[in-house]
Amino acid sequence: LYVKEDLGDETVLGLGPQQAHFLRSVLRLKPGARLALFNGRDGEWLARLDALGKGWASLLLEEQSRPQTEEPGLTLLFAPVKRQRIDWIAEKATEMGCTRLQPILTRRTIVERVNVQRLRTTVREAAEQSERISLPEVAEPAKLEHVLGDWPEDEPFLFADESGSGRPIDEVVNETRARALVIGPEGGFESQEQETIARHPAACAVGLGPRILRADTAVVAALAVMQALTGD
Ligand code: SAM
Repeated sequence: LYVKEDLGDETVLGLGPQQAHFLRSVLRLKPGARLALFNGRDGEWLARLDALGKGWASLLLEEQSRPQTEEPGLTLLFAPVKRQRIDWIAEKATEMGCTRLQPILTRRTIVERVNVQRLRTTVREAAEQSERISLPEVAEPAKLEHVLGDWPEDEPFLFADESGSGRPIDEVVNETRARALVIGPEGGFESQEQETIARHPAACAVGLGPRILRADTAVVAALAVMQALTGD
């Protein structure tokens, strides 16, 4: 979106080819259609589709429908999994209010290369679908040790531990109001990594029930509890 011209009481916004194509050929909108816009800084605005053509569209900005509110941060640190499932993790984490997605490289991470650009497109589409007015940040993959090395000691994070040593997640969320979650790779954390995490003063080991969940299932299971208990 860019401001095409400011007519004082009316701001005409221009759309780039990709978004114009989406409105024209995917949503098949016609001039006069109403849209809700967000850019992650200025809240949600209502606009009317003024005109569109092949690769372009212009919108008339009308009024702000929702102010930009400060969201409580919620960070998901997860070991990347295979392509379609990592997109699924990004999409579900966005729907459940995550504000930062941090892929972590562990010894058993099966996916070395993470297409961060594609994940950023996925989270934008998920934010639009879930009517968020903010976009989660998708960070570049980083080694587990580096991420934890920089993690503040006074910011509790949940560490989903399938070994059974963790406390029930609901108890820990209610007690700590932790705003970060670590989910391991499909092959699980190696014992040395497990120790690195467990030694961190901010680590809170949690269990997600008696069965071994797939990494993507564990992400949703944990975030669902966190979201339900914190109401965010
Ligand atoms: N060690 C597992 C195994 O034996 O198959 C593999 C790891 S599991 C597929 C992927 C991740 O999901 C784990 O590292 C953990 O973070 C999380 N997870 C799965 N089941 C869990 C549970 N019941 N409680 C807590 N975390 C769980």
